[in-house]
Amino acid sequence: MSSRTDHSEATVVWRGKMQVLLYLVSVFGLFGQYRLTPLPHPDDELVLPTKPAQNDLSLATKYLEQFYSFKADPMGRRRRSRPSFSSKLKDMQSFFGLNRTGTLNPETLAVIRTPRCGVSDVEDYSHRRGNRWKRNLITYGVGRYTSHLPVNTVDSLIASALDVWAKASPLSFLRSYSHQADIMVEFFRNDHGDSFPFDGPEGTLAHAYGPGEGIGGDVHFDEAEAWTAGPKGFNLYIVAAHEFGHALGLKHSQNPESVMYPTYKQRKTHNLLSSEDIVNINTLYGPRNKSPSPSLRFNWNNPSNPWYSGSFFPVSLKEICNPDLTFDAVTTVGEALFFFRDKYLWIKHNNQNDIKEGPISNFMPNIDRQIDAAYWVPQRATAYLFNGTIFWTVKGSQVKGRARNIKSFGFPSWVQQIDAAVHIHRTAHTLFFTQHLYWRYNEHFKSMNDSSPRNISEDFPGINGPISAAIYKDGSLHFFVGSDVYKYDIKQKEIIGAEKTTSWFGC
Ligand SMILES: [Zn+2]
Ligand SMILES: [Zn+2]
Repeated sequence: MSSRTDHSEATVVWRGKMQVLLYLVSVFGLFGQYRLTPLPHPDDELVLPTKPAQNDLSLATKYLEQFYSFKADPMGRRRRSRPSFSSKLKDMQSFFGLNRTGTLNPETLAVIRTPRCGVSDVEDYSHRRGNRWKRNLITYGVGRYTSHLPVNTVDSLIASALDVWAKASPLSFLRSYSHQADIMVEFFRNDHGDSFPFDGPEGTLAHAYGPGEGIGGDVHFDEAEAWTAGPKGFNLYIVAAHEFGHALGLKHSQNPESVMYPTYKQRKTHNLLSSEDIVNINTLYGPRNKSPSPSLRFNWNNPSNPWYSGSFFPVSLKEICNPDLTFDAVTTVGEALFFFRDKYLWIKHNNQNDIKEGPISNFMPNIDRQIDAAYWVPQRATAYLFNGTIFWTVKGSQVKGRARNIKSFGFPSWVQQIDAAVHIHRTAHTLFFTQHLYWRYNEHFKSMNDSSPRNISEDFPGINGPISAAIYKDGSLHFFVGSDVYKYDIKQKEIIGAEKTTSWFGC
């Protein structure tokens, strides 16, 4: 199952992708305007008997060619029809909020020397309006890894960088090991087959292709950079979050607070997106939490103890059969299945397609928030419902006591949200999933397992966080990832089935 061993398959796929790329180059002129000739090797510049000013000029010329669609005349003359160096330099100065002098002053040179993304700042999106992924579940894979960081670290930084966008949009990202994922992540040095060679340390750090088939959506990182997971060198998480923005269809921002700002800067790694980034991703894909349509919020006639009342309400299955349907949390409760989304709850009794539904507060009046994760311990006939760092204990349809902090399970304070939880009664363990990690809690001893947290992808091959919801049913784990559900055999450690969430409602 290694993603890096099947070279023959990778080569075939790569060739296929290159054909698509060449086609795209001819038709669209590519996602960004890239440098078509490699920069001189840095050492060459040191030995050239040229004045520093000429080096600056040639550096600036290449910069404007790569990022501002400047076309220098090869003979040094300028054709009247082409914008001059000076006017392109003014464009660049405006983009970065500098004085529009049109001359190479020290402030302008400082920006030009700042390491940055390889995608153009002036990509004209008018001809590619609507260029977005047409579905909300997007697959990704890592082809070639970097030698600067352990494989596990790269996996978790990539997953976290995608999660930045998932949290702000209706998108979900699913790890794929096929080399044919929508977004393929690769680390390359210099020339790497796509006509846009990397340039050694600093300069261009990475580039990405907008949504589309083949190379579309792919992200390449310059292996020559000192990639790190922390504040030194270039933080892979920060650069990856930026490049994934391109892979989803976003262009560069002039706002230095935006993650889509083209030059590299150290940022606080929590709340990476600016409000502008969130508006832009929502413009393409809509907001994260679509409330259930008003038609679903019909009058709930008898909210008193409806869990086992046996009174089923006729429900239009239209909304529940939406193939993009995702849930915040799912749990078994006795013979029933509870599906949570936003502040809404659907209850399905085993082997029946009758569904009861309504606002969560109709069933549990004390709970007025969305549920991120939920699990059920049959021996105690008790459900545990999580929102952020707090949880409720629910018995029957009664909420017992006040909401408590998840620290009582032994979570460190940096865990701010549980994505999914599932209790496996055979082992008396509860698994908690947070982004790419999972935690094992012993319900019998009421203690967190010492080895927690561990990587989800390591112990559940084929499954990658973030996980929307998880349940244990008929001896198997069922992972809800976006609108897909994976049936997982714990003993064989493999996925043994996949279906859409809608199939749980008989759609
Ligand atoms: Zn960029
Ligand atoms: Zn590339």
